[in-house]
Amino acid sequence: MAQRIDLHLHSTCSDGVESPTHVMEVAKAQGIDVAALTDHDTTSGWDEARAACARLGMTWVPGIEFSASLDGDSVHLLGYLVNPEDPDLLEEAGKTRDDRVWRFETMVDKINADIDGLSRDFVYSFHTEGATLGRPTIARALVDLGVVASVSEAFEEILAPENDRYFVGHYAPTIERAIEVVVGAGGVPVFAHPWTADRASLARPDLTDSEIDAKFGALVDRGLAGLEVHHEENTPFGRERLAAIAAQFDLIITGSSDYHGEGMKPVLPGAHTTAPAMFERIAAAGTGSEIVWA
Ligand code: AMP
Ligand code: FE
Ligand code: FE
Ligand code: ZN
Repeated sequence: MAQRIDLHLHSTCSDGVESPTHVMEVAKAQGIDVAALTDHDTTSGWDEARAACARLGMTWVPGIEFSASLDGDSVHLLGYLVNPEDPDLLEEAGKTRDDRVWRFETMVDKINADIDGLSRDFVYSFHTEGATLGRPTIARALVDLGVVASVSEAFEEILAPENDRYFVGHYAPTIERAIEVVVGAGGVPVFAHPWTADRASLARPDLTDSEIDAKFGALVDRGLAGLEVHHEENTPFGRERLAAIAAQFDLIITGSSDYHGEGMKPVLPGAHTTAPAMFERIAAAGTGSEIVWA
């Protein structure tokens, strides 16, 4: 039977709500054979996830999801098989994680000015020590307070970037710099969910088709190796365009769930998967850390 490959999963090391071990157990239960942990701006879950994969008989793929900026928008860059001790990687990820603390507390204080009960202490009670901080933790606190019915509703009603009463940005490298860091760390850079409805990036309506193609081409020139085409949040039109762009530039195509744990986004591991031939290209290109084959 064909291998089921999910290369984008989150744990309590960033904004997921399940430990790396639990995430891999859920992936196993969903029939996944090859799994990558890709927490935001950190590799701190790798050892635990690698051990869980070994115990469960799954192939382990090391990964990270870098926060990045593109023309002022927040975007994400997946890096597979990076060296976790690369100095540039540690510096860029560390700067982002540090600034996320300031940004998190600023957003919490702004919301708390309007909504009683959302103190820093209360919101931090939903946070795992050492994890990369993000808006999902604020969303969970808002659900717990009964302000909103779900994490998705918290994002729509309160935490969206368009809501300038509450939203605050944080430091992130440009995507060009993030690509450079991943390549320099021996990794394989894949643009995560590049064509979503709510998070604009290159899918801007003011750009012509050929301008969009050229912008992707410029990232390919910098070393971009792949596009996450099959992702729940890419629009149907976006998936078609991304597949065409991948063909034009001979890029790796991936598909992943971007699972964040129960009660978060409504996807399970394996909701979207990566073709074995595409995974082989990642495995062949990455030199910074080791896949552990089942
Ligand atoms: P941040 O990194 O703090 O800006 O928050 C972005 C993160 O929030 C993403 O990585 C997703 O995990 C999560 N997220 C964004 N939109 C939603 C949504 N509508 N529902 C659930 N989680 C979301
Ligand atoms: Fe996330
Ligand atoms: Fe992402
Ligand atoms: Zn993600």
